[in-house]
Amino acid sequence: MSKYTGALMGCAIGDSLGIHVEGWKPQQIQRYVGTITGLMNHIQPIGPAGEPIKEDEYGKLKRWSSDAKRGDISDDTILTLAVAEAVLERGFDLEHMARKHLEAYEANRQPDGSYKGAFGGTTQLAFEALKNGISPYESGNLKGPGNAPAMKMGPIGLYAATDCGGAHLKFAEEVGRMTHLDTRSVASGMVQAGLVERLAGDEIHHRYFFHDAIMDLTAHCEEAPIAGMANPEIRLLDKMRWIVKNHDASVEETREALGNGGAVFESYPFAIFMFQKHWDNPKGGLLATVNAGGDCDTTGAIYGTLWGARDGLDALPKEWVDGINEKERILRVGWRFEHLDRMMNR
Ligand SMILES: [Mg+2]
Repeated sequence: MSKYTGALMGCAIGDSLGIHVEGWKPQQIQRYVGTITGLMNHIQPIGPAGEPIKEDEYGKLKRWSSDAKRGDISDDTILTLAVAEAVLERGFDLEHMARKHLEAYEANRQPDGSYKGAFGGTTQLAFEALKNGISPYESGNLKGPGNAPAMKMGPIGLYAATDCGGAHLKFAEEVGRMTHLDTRSVASGMVQAGLVERLAGDEIHHRYFFHDAIMDLTAHCEEAPIAGMANPEIRLLDKMRWIVKNHDASVEETREALGNGGAVFESYPFAIFMFQKHWDNPKGGLLATVNAGGDCDTTGAIYGTLWGARDGLDALPKEWVDGINEKERILRVGWRFEHLDRMMNR
């Protein structure tokens, strides 16, 4: 039963493990932080004259959530909770989904008009459209192949796992298209919803079945004429095929082959690869995912969602669960899913 709270908490844990080093190269993490082994305080690399280091030979050192404290969460979990609350309140209702997204967005508005939470550009552009009264069926854009649909779509799979769902892949498509029109972005959200539904529903007992699931779902979701790009050159399905074929490759080799930056066709397959590679050591795998840098709060959130959906809340390290500042809210949302499951299956 605790798979529902587990999935939501896993998302927050992965997000929070990576929040301070989002976008960094693994070499930069090693140099300025060392190996990440748990939740940590924010980090500002300082040069010899006491100045903040903003760039080194490996590239820029951005701090997307510069005000974040230990245990804080970012857009990955903020939007996952918005999706969760929306489906719990109204089921598969896109208008309500849009309202919950905007509510979560506005709750993070700062006095100077900026937003905390490190929301992506494609998402923000769509939110502005929604705020201007554009329908959620028309608000998506092709600004970039972002990974927000993948990072936030877990709860649609959870809702389906309670047996309330119905056409959960179709609804995940609609929610993806509300912000993103890139086929890969939309498909990644659908695949994530489908994987979470199967993991929380106890349908995947071996990593080879997980391989079958990623191939089957990706082929179905990416092939459907879902979004604005007819024939993207880089396809999720090719990346998934690589994962199945090279399922025990080293992390370095995998970063080379798949990438792990913010583009969905890098970060989503990378998170999937790491989860299946560390099938029997999910905690070590999550840490390895975050230490690999790149869009590591999001690869962490995607990985953590899958882990929690598979193994439940009790499998997650207690010190991490207790360290999440939004713990109580996350548990309350998770319990509502568990209640729904009991209502549907008694
Ligand atoms: Mg984030």
